[in-house]
Amino acid sequence: MRMTKNEAEEACRQYNYLCDILEYTEQAFPIETRFGWEIYSRRKESMNMAEYQMKALETAMYPTLDNLGIYYTALGLCSEAGEVAGKIKKALRDKGGNYHAIKDDIKKELGDVLWYCATLADEFDLSLSEVAEYNIEKLASRKERGVIQGSGDDR
Ligand SMILES: [Mg+2]
Repeated sequence: MRMTKNEAEEACRQYNYLCDILEYTEQAFPIETRFGWEIYSRRKESMNMAEYQMKALETAMYPTLDNLGIYYTALGLCSEAGEVAGKIKKALRDKGGNYHAIKDDIKKELGDVLWYCATLADEFDLSLSEVAEYNIEKLASRKERGVIQGSGDDR
């Protein structure tokens, strides 16, 4: 069952509140006595988009003069998206459609796609977070207006 937007926001609010309590608890008590340790450790392992974009940019090494950064990252994005499609095509051809066999490959290639999304966004002085938020708002609006299906960027 899918949550409504309000339910999801409330769940996130409660989860973050719990994590704040657990963070305080970690500071106040030794690890062995902490309540909810497992939940806290999961939160520590996740990465938000701002953090990801910052780390991705630390590894960005390409020419940037005269808009070369835009060309480089746009071409890289297309190339990596093609690699995702290539892995799926080869799973169909060579592994009888056993897509579980390529899960790790897809993980790697989607990571490469994400890296180019982060760096291309930066070339336009966009944060990955604002790109993501805008996209979700756009799709939610289309869903609300019943125009998810169809075509046109500005529907
Ligand atoms: Mg790749």
